[in-house]
Amino acid sequence: MKRALVCVILLVMPVRSAAPSHAHRQAAASRLAENAHVRVALDWFTHNLPWINDTQARFTEIPAPPFQEQARAAAVSDLLRETGLAVHTDKIGNVIAELGGANEKEIVVLSAHLDTVFPRGTDVRVHRSGNRMMAPGISDNGTGIASLVAVARALESDHVKPQRTILFAANVGEEGEGNLRGMRELVETYRSRLKAVVVLDGSGTDHVTTRALASRRLGATITGPGGHSWSDFGMPNPINALVRGSVRFINTKVPSGPRTTFNIGEIEGGTSVNSVPHEARIKVDIRSENEEELARLESALREAIAAGVRDEMEPPRDRSRGNLEWKVELLGSRPGGELSADSPLLAALRAADELVGNQSRMERSSTDANIPLSQGIDAISIGAGGTGGGAHSLQEWYDATGREVGLKRALLTVLGVAGVAEEKAR
Ligand SMILES: [Zn+2]
Repeated sequence: MKRALVCVILLVMPVRSAAPSHAHRQAAASRLAENAHVRVALDWFTHNLPWINDTQARFTEIPAPPFQEQARAAAVSDLLRETGLAVHTDKIGNVIAELGGANEKEIVVLSAHLDTVFPRGTDVRVHRSGNRMMAPGISDNGTGIASLVAVARALESDHVKPQRTILFAANVGEEGEGNLRGMRELVETYRSRLKAVVVLDGSGTDHVTTRALASRRLGATITGPGGHSWSDFGMPNPINALVRGSVRFINTKVPSGPRTTFNIGEIEGGTSVNSVPHEARIKVDIRSENEEELARLESALREAIAAGVRDEMEPPRDRSRGNLEWKVELLGSRPGGELSADSPLLAALRAADELVGNQSRMERSSTDANIPLSQGIDAISIGAGGTGGGAHSLQEWYDATGREVGLKRALLTVLGVAGVAEEKAR
């Protein structure tokens, strides 16, 4: 009888997995939320929402086009230094504030990118109405950098001592042709000690990016001798060739699964309407859930441009007076990667979601988290709370209503994976 009972119990016991059990995770999370210092840090958000909103508006009004993040970086650096943390700027322009842990050999990074997609000269003044703020870059990534500073301030408000060292990094080079150079530098510098990266990008709390979407950015350029529209008629025309090649390229079939996309995002060339141009260029962004599709699409672009040049050189006109040259260059490449389902970082995020009463879905996207994920380092990208829209457009907006949920979620996720040092170790 007893033996039979044991057998039955063994049969109904769940298979043990490497990941800590849900109950175990919950217990660890509620210990975290009950810690007196952590409670003070969480309350700090509630008492300082106007300051956080003002800080976001201030950062947003300092232009930060790609490769010109210095002024905004300096403002973020000043505010992080006021918090009492040791702050430095690395050689590529990332601002890094360090909150030393009991175990300094292990590091958790909380990051937010400084740069915007908007060129110098864009009107970035913030218009406010109640909880709503309007300005290019207000959400992406005004929300992220203001929240980065807010989390640092909240933790310092009651001197929370983490188990692992936490680095707050306001990094350069996420947008446009920045090619994630800021995050590449951070991972390169701290790789051997880096245990997890939490990226704050934009607003919202509805998602967690755990899969890195691979992408490539390519530039195609066609050049020729150029000439006069009347007297040099017949001279091969780089714009004609580029248009012919582009039409071929956009007829390329791409699968819907794995989802694969392309976009000709920029086109330029020529000097005047009555000149045969000597140069024409396009910039193309290609993305795929699958690296092979990406490689296939890149080859398709090269073939299409080569064919466009061939088409242009063919009769009916005499093309003997000049030749065309073409090249396709890689402007940037974001590697893919994926967070494992049983990673402690995902567990920390899920526990934080539970504590703040939030639900979020897992997503695939192209973010700063691509770099650590592609190198096997745990990383996620999340919104920093509130709601926003119109990212990368002049109509971008942000609504701060309920933003403390996102702030608490970020803080609890970082502390969940960094840990809080035992009281006696303080
Ligand atoms: Zn962003």
